[in-house]
Amino acid sequence: MKIQNYIAGTLRDPLRGQWLDNINPATAEVYSHVPASQAADVAQAVEAAKAAFAGWAAMPAQKRADILLKIAYLIDRDFDALALAVSTDQGKPVKLAKAVDIPRASANMRFFATAAIHFASESHAMEGAINYTLRTPVGVVGCISPWNLPLYLFTWKIAPALAIGCTVVAKPSELTPRTAYLFSKLCMEAGLPAGVLNIVHGRGAEAGHAIIEHPEVAAISFTGGTATGKHIASVAAPMFKKLSLELGGKNPNIVFADCDFEQAVKTSVTASFSNQGEICLCGSRILVERSVYEKFVAAFVERTRQLVVGDPLAETTHVGALVSEGHMKKVLGYIALAQQEGGNVLTGGQQVTVPGRCAQGFFVEPTVIVGLDQQCRTNQEEIFGPVVTIMPFDREEEAVVFANSTAYGLAATVWTENLSKAHRVAAALKSGIVWVNCWLLRDLRTPFGGVKQSGVGREGGWEALRFFTEAKNVCVKW
Ligand code: NAD
Repeated sequence: MKIQNYIAGTLRDPLRGQWLDNINPATAEVYSHVPASQAADVAQAVEAAKAAFAGWAAMPAQKRADILLKIAYLIDRDFDALALAVSTDQGKPVKLAKAVDIPRASANMRFFATAAIHFASESHAMEGAINYTLRTPVGVVGCISPWNLPLYLFTWKIAPALAIGCTVVAKPSELTPRTAYLFSKLCMEAGLPAGVLNIVHGRGAEAGHAIIEHPEVAAISFTGGTATGKHIASVAAPMFKKLSLELGGKNPNIVFADCDFEQAVKTSVTASFSNQGEICLCGSRILVERSVYEKFVAAFVERTRQLVVGDPLAETTHVGALVSEGHMKKVLGYIALAQQEGGNVLTGGQQVTVPGRCAQGFFVEPTVIVGLDQQCRTNQEEIFGPVVTIMPFDREEEAVVFANSTAYGLAATVWTENLSKAHRVAAALKSGIVWVNCWLLRDLRTPFGGVKQSGVGREGGWEALRFFTEAKNVCVKW
């Protein structure tokens, strides 16, 4: 099976004819080949996007929306095939792909297609004059997405860019390219004009780098690791490109003694191990008020042990394969580090051999570690796997200090039935997103993003549409 680039409305092999292996992480088998695109492929894509820009930007928003809504409809039509593709590429249970990834991909397209119809710009009346703000699409933009939620995050970026009238050069992760490839075929079927969206596959250091340094790419929307984000900023900032960076997290999950205990345990297990812990929003540091600490740890471990690690295609599987062998080794390395740092592994900690077709796959047990201090590397660095630590705290202020003690600030969760405490703690957390008594409950209109090393800028709602525009103020005196 061969994946192709989507450039100027056609599917193409990479110019230099070089390919990467696409590995199914559940079986460790190469199941397709991905273009190892280079700067020349990106240059063609940017050329096509430039040529398409004037026509797409001038098209009435309603007409653009009609095409994007057709793509959403086609995602729904091909629901099962896309769910299977995302699971095979990434290792997640197909059940999860059906519940989360694919519904959200079509929701992203619908949400931004229709939002752009309602988009408005501001006006400011003053004595003797009126100011109005024109917001026009910035031009050709680069959208670079990661492997953990391949189609979900890919569409989350390109949908607002396209809806507002930008043309796009996009690069999905080279580890999970298949759904973006299938998506390119849906765009052709839906009648998206040639060059409006171009999808270039390949390595970050080659195809990705070529996008960020291309002088005709006016804005970069990136989701991925903090180290990559720093590199992108260092290349794009001196070129004065607009930048939206959605980066890593080390999210605290704070459990107060006055919480709904059953709900806190149940949702905390989901927040820890969903998608093998490979979600930037996973709560990887669980902070529990000391009076319920022992009880929480026991209940949490018991529930974790019930999770089935297995074949992503099996209906009974809760935890699938990690995305790659390299990533699995990184996660196992962090478990070993935690033990060196004095951590006690209460459950998990090992690679799992799943019998049958998945015997060579990259599976790791859901792992719970206690006994670590807040400053150790295990509690400071993003692991991005099925590994959580649990630590006790004594007072509310202490919980907030612990929660805020990393370089990251993406998301946090607070469990309490005390309304005032919930608001107080939410306000004190240095984090772009706070969930109270829930996790990953998403309204696509809300600002989404992180503070500190978790990123710059916000996605979601009007923020995303504004990012892809330039504002111009016109002041008219009468
Ligand atoms: P990554 O940074 O390695 O790669 C992300 C994308 O960037 C890929 O498409 C990759 O090919 C590309 N890339 C890599 N090097 C590049 C370069 N030099 N120039 C241009 N592009 C380059 O991240 P990953 O391993 O794919 O994803 C995991 C990370 O993503 C985790 O840190 C996770 O927290 C983060 N993430 C953040 C969010 C969020 O919304 N904040 C969401 C999902 C994942």
